[in-house]
Order: sequence, then C-alpha cells, then structure tokens
Amino acid sequence: QLTTGILINLVLIGIGGFWLTHEATAPIEESYQQLKQFTADASHELRNPLTAIQTSIEVMLNHPERVHPKDMKKLVAVASATEQMSRLTQDLLFLARTKTPVSTVENAWKPTSVNEILQNLVDLLEPLAEDKEITLKYQVLANVAVMGEPAQLSRLFSNLLQNAIQYSLPQGKVSVCLAKQNRFCLVSVEDTGIGIAPEDIPFVFNRFWRADKARSRREGGTGLGLSIAMAIAQHHGGKITVTSELGVGSCFKVYLPIYYGI
Ligand code: ADP
Repeated sequence: QLTTGILINLVLIGIGGFWLTHEATAPIEESYQQLKQFTADASHELRNPLTAIQTSIEVMLNHPERVHPKDMKKLVAVASATEQMSRLTQDLLFLARTKTPVSTVENAWKPTSVNEILQNLVDLLEPLAEDKEITLKYQVLANVAVMGEPAQLSRLFSNLLQNAIQYSLPQGKVSVCLAKQNRFCLVSVEDTGIGIAPEDIPFVFNRFWRADKARSRREGGTGLGLSIAMAIAQHHGGKITVTSELGVGSCFKVYLPIYYGI
C-alpha cells in the first residue's frame, strides 16, 4: 500500500516537473523561433535590392569607358562590399530558415556517395590551392554512402576545404581523407596552416566568431561557415570535431552515419 502511494506520488511529481519545465521553456522557445523568423524574413527581403545593386555595378564594370578613372577604384570597392553583403545575407537566410537550418525537401534526401562529393570539390578547388602554392591531397580509404542532401553535404565539406586553403600559408599542405570508423563515415580535412589558439577552439563553431576579423573579411569570410557546416552535420545525425595547434595547423573531422559501405 505504502509503496504504491510512494510510486503514485513520484509519477505525479514527474508529471508536474515536466509540466513546469515545459511552461517555463515554452516562451523562450517561442521568442527564439520569432527571432529566427525575423532574421529569415529580413535576409530574404534584402536579397532583391542587393541583386539590383549588384546588377548596376556589373553594368558599370562592363563599361569602364563610361566610368571616370578616378571613380573606378571606388566602384571596385563597392562591388566587393556588395559581394560580401550578399554572401552574408545568403548565409543568414540559410541558418535562420524555419525550424531546421537545412532544407528538408524530402525527395532531396538520398543515398549519397561521399567520395563523389569530395572528388568534385577537390577538382573545383585545385586551381585555388595552386594559386596559393598549396598542395591539395585527397586519399580514399573506404568508399561509403550516407543518407542526406547532396547539395548540403557538398556545402559542409566545401566550407571546411575552403577554410583549410584560406588559412594556409604558401608551400602549405591540405590533406583530405575519406575513411570508415565503425558505423560512421569519417572525413578529415587537415592543413598545415596558421592554426587556432587553444583558448579559441571552443568558439570556432559560434556564429560570427572569427579569430582575425580583418583577415577573414579581407578573404571574403562571414564568420558563419563553420556554424553552417556544424548545422548540416548535426542535421544528418553527425558531428564535427577540431584539433589545432597555433602556427602548426588544424584538423577538422566530420562523422556521418553510414548508409552503406560501397
Ligand atoms: P570565416 O568566414 O571567417 O572563415 P568560419 O565560420 O568558416 O568563418 O570560421 C570561423 C573562424 O575560425 C575563422 O575566421 C578562422 O579564424 C577560424 N578557422 C576556421 N578554419 C580554420 C583553419 N582551417 N585554420 C585556422 N583557422 C580557422
């Protein structure tokens, strides 16, 4: 009798606790969703005027004879600032989109070969690496497929690869490796670049966080690339880890659940 009474009390306390927690967190969740919606709407609305500005700038740049030589430098600066703003609004829109940051178009999800995505990216980014005198190496230890959205997965790896090249010094090396670890597909992107200070590591996936704001902005960075990469990895049931040493280099590891090994 006594045990039943205690049990009933425990269940009632549990239900009460859940109800109280829900009551307490519901307004926070609601205002968070409102904030996200506002960011999504604002970035969406900014796209049209930005496109109009970019088109006008392009027209002027295509007819340099119509531009006063003294104004040309200013025009190029405006073009670059507009490009940066456009990238920022696209990234913000991506992160703020409805409930999940990643598009959830059902039919866009399919078994996807990670090797195919990485090979395409390596081919695409090879000229950029060459330009900066950086060796880009790609090694395939296992060919695996994951379930996901190919465009988003490509964006995830592209952000990591572009960072590895961007934060490398001439004569540096960027190594990409595709392997299998238990039931996870493991992609590591390692560079011999500038590295990240130990005290900065906990912040790298935060939105707008940049170790060197001036350098990042100069190279076209928005400070959103790694948070987008992490959001995509988590949306696919995975995660990203980072190890780094200042002045030596960094290694980002992406773990994604394997759909099947090919
Ligand atoms: P950004 O657009 O500034 O590159 P990210 O979110 O991609 O934004 O990266 C955040 C910051 O983390 C960068 O500004 C840089 O300071 C640091 N970072 C990212 N990747 C690397 C890397 N491979 N090597 C050194 N620092 C890096």
